[in-house]
This record gives sequence, structure tokens and C-alpha cells, in this order.
Amino acid sequence: MSQTQSDNRHAITLQGVSMSFGSALALRPTDLTVHRGEFLTLLGPSGSGKSTLLNLIAGAIAPTTGRILLDDRDITYMPPRDRGIGMVFQNYALMPHMTVFENVAYPLRVRGEPSDQIHRKVNEALERVGLTGFEDRKPRQMSGGQQQRVGIARCIVYSPAIIMMDEPLGALDKNLREQMQDEIKRLHTDLGTTFIYVTHDQEEALNMSDRICLMSVGEIAQLGTPEDLYFAPQSRFVAEFIGESN
Ligand code: ADP
Ligand code: MG
Repeated sequence: MSQTQSDNRHAITLQGVSMSFGSALALRPTDLTVHRGEFLTLLGPSGSGKSTLLNLIAGAIAPTTGRILLDDRDITYMPPRDRGIGMVFQNYALMPHMTVFENVAYPLRVRGEPSDQIHRKVNEALERVGLTGFEDRKPRQMSGGQQQRVGIARCIVYSPAIIMMDEPLGALDKNLREQMQDEIKRLHTDLGTTFIYVTHDQEEALNMSDRICLMSVGEIAQLGTPEDLYFAPQSRFVAEFIGESN
């Protein structure tokens, strides 16, 4: 590879990416650069296209137009498992019949890693999320917050280059949400990985993000630091959405 260093600072680049479902345009043609190591939040009301954008980057869906680059490689049509992108979902998406250990081990087993290596990595991931000792439990024997910690462990266990979370705290109550915001921020600092985080909660976005990408009906309303959006909103929509309190 003979790319210059400045090229490689850009973890993800979207060029003219749009997505239609039938005749419905979920995402208008969008340009977006996500920088290596940053915590970028996609913020916006329900239906604004946040999950669509995440699913395009993950490769769960292919765009109607445009291309997606990862470290300057075109990954627009690359299979999801080859992208090195980890996902955490609002509903945890754990396998109910499997233990905590096996849920976290799953991505490594799929990759055919040897079992001593799997043990080491799973134990390390569980330790990072504070779940050492919970290996033999089943998801239903755990609280919502604990289940989401399992979801996070399953995501980080194979050291993805990019971690994406789609409303990961949406099912939790407010106190726990605040605690887990801190835990996720600490994880970002410790790992130094690029995070793309989705929420509809502007407070959460203001607390957690290096930059916020505020979306409105399938397009970017404003992209900037929390201070930019809070103190220098570029439209009435941005001012009202950021100013709202829960
Ligand atoms: P958000 O995550 O911000 O709530 P989404 O990305 O899920 O928004 O949805 C954006 C728009 O795309 C919405 O109008 C939604 O109804 C539509 N949409 C999303 N996924 C599909 C799909 N699989 N089929 C049809 N329409 C969809
Ligand atoms: Mg969504």
C-alpha cells in the first residue's frame, strides 16, 4: 500500500451514498467522512435515516447510488464479515439458548480460531465490560444492562477496526443509561477505535461525542462538534432539536 498518511486518517468515507426502498428515499445522496479514532454520533428523530446509514456502512444493505470507502478501499459491495466492523444493537440480539461465554465466543468460533485463544479473548472482553464470573449464565438470567454488556463484549472480542452501536441504551432506564454512557466512553478511550454511535437522545449525543452528525428526513442537517451544534446551529431545526430536553 502506498497511500499517504493523510489518506489513512479517514476511516470511512461516503461519497454520494443514497438509499431507496422501492420508491421511498430513506437517505438522500450523502457525503460523510468519519475520522480514524473519533467518536461520531448519528443523532436525529425516528425515521431520519440513522439506521439506514449504519446498515450501509456495515454492509447489511447496498446503496442505491454512491460508494463507501474504508481506509481508501472501496467496500461498497464487500460482504459484511470482511469489513472488520463490529455492531451493537438496541435489542442486544443475543442467542437465548447459549451461555454468556458462548455468545461472546461466537464471532471467534465462526472465524475458526483455536479454543485456547478463544478462552483468552472472551475472558478479556468480559473483564472489560465488568462481567467476569457471568460466563455460565443465560441471557434471560441477566438484567437489560448486563445483557447489553454481553452484546458489547461480543462486539469487541475480535478487535474490530470500527465499532458501531445502534441506540444501544434505548431499552434501559435513565440512571443506567447515564452509567453506561460513561462505560462506553471509557471503552472508546481505552480501545482508541473509531466509534459510530446512533441515538435519538440529544443529551446523550452532547455528552459522548467528538462530533455529531444531526440527521433530518434522510439528510445531514449539520455536522460538527457538540459545541458547534449547541452554540452555532445552522438552522431552526438544529436549534430546536438540540435545545429540546427530555
Ligand atoms: P432511523 O434509524 O433514524 O429511525 P431508518 O434509517 O430506520 O431511520 O429509516 C429511514 C427511513 O427509511 C424511514 O422512512 C423508514 O421507514 C425507511 N426504511 C428503513 N428501512 C426500510 C426497509 N427495509 N424497507 C422500507 N423502508 C425502510
Ligand atoms: Mg434506527
